[in-house]
Amino acid sequence: MKATVIGVGSELIVGDTLDTNTAVIAASLSDRGVSVVTTHRVADEAGTLVQILKESLDRYDLVITTGGLGPTPDDLTREAWAEALNRPLVLDETMLKRIEAFFSKMGKTMLPLNKKQAKKPKGARWLPNPRGTAPGFWLPGNPTAVALPGPPHEWRPMWQQLVPQLGLPPKATAKRTFKTFGVGESEIADRLGDLLGSHDGFEVATYAKVDGVRVVVWGRENEVQRASKTVIKRLKKTIWGQDQDTLPGLVYRRLKHEGHTLAVMESVTGGLVAKLITDVPGASAVFLGGMVSYTMGAKAHFGVSEAVLREHGTVSEAAALAMAEAARVRLGTTYGLSVTGVAGPEPLEGQPVGRVFVAVAGPSGKRARAYLFPDQGREVIRQRAAYAALAFFWSMP
Ligand code: ATP
Repeated sequence: MKATVIGVGSELIVGDTLDTNTAVIAASLSDRGVSVVTTHRVADEAGTLVQILKESLDRYDLVITTGGLGPTPDDLTREAWAEALNRPLVLDETMLKRIEAFFSKMGKTMLPLNKKQAKKPKGARWLPNPRGTAPGFWLPGNPTAVALPGPPHEWRPMWQQLVPQLGLPPKATAKRTFKTFGVGESEIADRLGDLLGSHDGFEVATYAKVDGVRVVVWGRENEVQRASKTVIKRLKKTIWGQDQDTLPGLVYRRLKHEGHTLAVMESVTGGLVAKLITDVPGASAVFLGGMVSYTMGAKAHFGVSEAVLREHGTVSEAAALAMAEAARVRLGTTYGLSVTGVAGPEPLEGQPVGRVFVAVAGPSGKRARAYLFPDQGREVIRQRAAYAALAFFWSMP
């Protein structure tokens, strides 16, 4: 089965609204084995929209639009569908009453403009919208046409209701995601070798994220299982997790399992490591707190030896080790975790932008690791530094 998704709205073209709808719906279809090879964004321009709808109906089994179902004259999706399907728009008195009721429930009177929202192409079925005035509609057949409103919180429940009725292939496709840290995408690709790409029955692809490079394997169940074994064999210890795993979640689980506690001292990340850990519900059982020691004075104040900072610099392995130890001592935890680095835009103390040191101090000693991240801006460097700290802690023997 082949499908396409079309986001309607001039604001999508100029980026006032970022089109996430088409990607989310395409992903939901791909998960179910539907082939989506293209999605579109179209401005509120009747002629072009009708043309794209007609072309799509010729090419695909399933054509979905989001947006443009509102009451104003620039909301044209309803009219465009009617024209592309060659069916007149008909007013549904029952739907009109429902829309009127929606307004009176909110203490408002329906404006004449809203009347057109009770119209749909002849023969189409309604997709009731529990969260807004604009209902969607769909016309089953080959091809099947689906019109959803634009706001994600409105169309999501409608989509969930609709999917089982679309006659999609049973969910035969399996998918596994392997999450790695500390190795670049090209090295991962090199290690995966001929496994990367499209094969008979399965595909393997890599994606770079702030918490590391992901390797996704999807396709037929058996093939995915077999390919996954090879991925694990070739990537070994660079893999920190799979599927729904998150680094903060794994750090939490490890500490909880071992009955240990953690404190952090952060410089370059400004508190992001603490934020990520405390995103995990129940984190207080293992995470006692942290310090943001953004200056040399603050580091010294929290117990980092000034002599170390002066001799090695605040962005150094020695500083990271001393910070981890100081965090541990200050809060009396099993482990201290630290991160120091250069987020840019300027180099610092002779260290380049993207240089990051992370360290862990614990009952059996201290360890540190250095990273050099590419300069993709302060925000990305800080995020990667925070995940580097978590990944390093997680990977400790
Ligand atoms: P409404 O009756 O709420 O106006 P509508 O179907 O006419 O519904 P639009 O006016 O096209 O929807 O869009 C309303 C809002 O929905 C947009 O301002 C935007 O926030 C969100 N939206 C629309 N299209 C998209 C999209 N493709 N991706 C993400 N958000 C979108």
